[in-house]
Amino acid sequence: MSDIQPLMIAGGEFFPGQSGEVEIVAGQLPSGNKVSILAHVFRAYTPGPTVLFLAGIHGDEINGVEIVRRCLDQDIFKNLITGTVIAVPLLNVYGFNNLSRNVHDGKDVNRSFPGTQKGSLASRIAYGLSKNILPHADLVVDFHTGGRGTYNYPQIRYNTDDARAGAAARSFGAPLILSNRPPAKSLRRSAFKHLDLPVLTYEGGENMRYDALSIDVGIAGVKRLLQTQGMLADTPQDKLKPPVLVTASVWVRAGRAGLFQWSKKSGFPVRKGEPLGVIADPRGKLPPKRVLCPRDGFMIGHANAAVVSQGDALFHIGYVTPPPAEAGVAAKE
Ligand SMILES: [Zn+2]
Repeated sequence: MSDIQPLMIAGGEFFPGQSGEVEIVAGQLPSGNKVSILAHVFRAYTPGPTVLFLAGIHGDEINGVEIVRRCLDQDIFKNLITGTVIAVPLLNVYGFNNLSRNVHDGKDVNRSFPGTQKGSLASRIAYGLSKNILPHADLVVDFHTGGRGTYNYPQIRYNTDDARAGAAARSFGAPLILSNRPPAKSLRRSAFKHLDLPVLTYEGGENMRYDALSIDVGIAGVKRLLQTQGMLADTPQDKLKPPVLVTASVWVRAGRAGLFQWSKKSGFPVRKGEPLGVIADPRGKLPPKRVLCPRDGFMIGHANAAVVSQGDALFHIGYVTPPPAEAGVAAKE
């Protein structure tokens, strides 16, 4: 791209050195109110890569929204020395207003990519991003948390077969990196398949709760990644421990329903046969049943739910060498 050409996003024009906002209408509510996507655009005078920071694709995953909001509030993107940052702090406005992962009909925006112009609301939101913003990006960081009642240790996930995403993942500096295959029709899979666009998925904390560690790691990661891309001046950062690298994961599920308490939480190595928690009978009739770790690995997520049903996901164990039968199992994100 020539350095004097404006960046055109949904009718907005951004010349080098310019910043501003653009609002993309994605759909309409029954009340007549519009569902729109607000994007903040920051361009340095000097050409360089374009990085998209995106949050709130799941409306109840608040840590990511807070990470992007704080980056905006701290004027991190106003100090770019090269390139462009596009920041979308809240993609799924409907889900956010309704404290919900999904939109009104239960459809998941992150299973609706690349989306269609005349599809359901989830598909239209995905389309609004795919058509107007993704074609401009060279790299995307998509911020998530664990689902309802599930805590994720701060981690970056990237496509196993995307070397550029692997390099960007390491530059982010999260304490855990999971390379895997993303779910079908997710942003990460769709952008790579249709646009050859590397996407990093950041996971940290659980839905509807602030998690200070996940927010701090996320903001520091944004800065490190931009510095590695040559887009921000280097500043002193905490020295990092080498990340834990995992290439596959397995869920440990509840064998019986009842009252659940973990005794081991995310962020630590685990050993096969180790007790991870107990499920108790709320009526006080049956003795508590221990939940044992099925294999050696590293705990990348755990449930904080007090009441669990049979089959509920309790612990998410990451490990390095996938047995063939389990290879390629997509982690929920
Ligand atoms: Zn999510």
